[in-house]
Amino acid sequence: MCLHADKKFERFEEITPELLVKENVKLILCDFDNTLRLHSEKEPAEELAGWVKSVKSAGVKIIIISNNGRKKMMKKFCEPIDVPCVWWAKKPLSTKLTEAIKDSGVEPKFAVMLGDKWSTDVLAAKFAKIRAYKVNHRRNVI
Ligand SMILES: [Mg+2]
Repeated sequence: MCLHADKKFERFEEITPELLVKENVKLILCDFDNTLRLHSEKEPAEELAGWVKSVKSAGVKIIIISNNGRKKMMKKFCEPIDVPCVWWAKKPLSTKLTEAIKDSGVEPKFAVMLGDKWSTDVLAAKFAKIRAYKVNHRRNVI
């Protein structure tokens, strides 16, 4: 089993609808902290809202899969962008990824896991036998 990320990006915005169509991606399981959200952000940034919209308009589903256990905060954050979220996912365990894929009705071969951390996101993707897309860890100072 190859444990490397299948593709690497600087930030989530680089993952365009065109790329997703080209790569046959129909479901993005997405990490939350430092992938989509900076630690300081209490609500979704405009860039994130725009990205989610463009991805969805390409017919691609997004589900957030996070190890964060702050259920209320996550729900509040995800509500305005209308993205379902799974908290306390215990990545690199792949249980929650596999469940989310099954619930989505998308075949695993069309799913990717997107995240900033190899030891949780990339490994969880590999254990779930789906592709792993890695972004750089987002920091507050840009
Ligand atoms: Mg993260």
